[in-house]
Amino acid sequence: MASTSLSALPAFVPHPPLTDSHGRVIHDLRVSITDRCNYKCVYCRTGEAGAQYPELGIDEYLRLIEIFVSLGITKVRLTGGEPLLRRGVVELVRELARLRTLDGQPLDLALTTNGHLLESLAEPLKAAGLNRVTVSMDAVDAAAFERITRVPGSFSVVLKSIRAARAAGLAPLKINCVLLRGFNDDQIEGFARFARHEDVVVRFIEFMPLEEGRLWSPEIVVPLREIVERIGQTLPLVELPPREASETARRYTFADGVGEIGVIAPVSQAFCGACSRVRLTSDGKIRTCLFSQVEHDLYGRLRAGANSEELRAYIVRTVQGKEARHHIGEPGFLKPSRSMVHIGG
Ligand code: SF4
Repeated sequence: MASTSLSALPAFVPHPPLTDSHGRVIHDLRVSITDRCNYKCVYCRTGEAGAQYPELGIDEYLRLIEIFVSLGITKVRLTGGEPLLRRGVVELVRELARLRTLDGQPLDLALTTNGHLLESLAEPLKAAGLNRVTVSMDAVDAAAFERITRVPGSFSVVLKSIRAARAAGLAPLKINCVLLRGFNDDQIEGFARFARHEDVVVRFIEFMPLEEGRLWSPEIVVPLREIVERIGQTLPLVELPPREASETARRYTFADGVGEIGVIAPVSQAFCGACSRVRLTSDGKIRTCLFSQVEHDLYGRLRAGANSEELRAYIVRTVQGKEARHHIGEPGFLKPSRSMVHIGG
């Protein structure tokens, strides 16, 4: 599977940066390479349904990502389901690492995983060119962790994976913890200590209505303000400035300078105004927003024989129609047409 170097692509018509009708520049692509998952987290996969969508060939993801990169994408994050379940993920990373952005820079390559298969893949992924990894982890004690994942023995496996990823140099290593009141909000203070002890950046995420079932309610959300207050009672925090406008997390260091946490607050402090993301689903559909009600069949056009310029034009038109924002908690709010496990983070 060889990547088509950009010069080999048919005559390329330079395009202005990929922007939507709200003037936001889109430079961040999230690609789900499978909707299969080896965990059954209680707030995500509440149903019995397994994978529901087909997967493309690894070379087909590469082909479509190349087109996005030729339009100005600079960051690519591989997601799932659980992306490390996909055979060929290391090769995909290697090929993506060969691509260059429009200004000749390597892509910023990241991956989000539940960590279960990461211990043995951390070194090969790093060697292939992966820059960063984010591990989804919703508790810092084994009993609570395994109650959430519904996979016995998973806690120690993930802990070993986190340490292997850090040893492999996949940094900064981020931990994403989705907080649900009454489920794991008792883990907040423990996670703050974990961030300092394990030298990882723990990011707390407000629970969004993206689950398979009907678990979400405003009351189950633990808002940013409360998370910061609770940690600050034992470990005073200092807010850090954002590194870029489209950064989703509010960042904090501890008053003694040891460690960092973040809070991603899409419900209580939405950040849609600076959104720079679009997504590609495991079956090749473009989702312009996590909460999109419609999808755009890019892969269908590729399979129908569209050439690179036609695919680019389709992406540009599709991104123009990107939603302004989500409407969580508002009258008439509709859950997206797919749940999170079938979209990818
Ligand atoms: S909800 Fe949609 S518009 Fe808002 S930040 Fe997420 S993807 Fe962007």
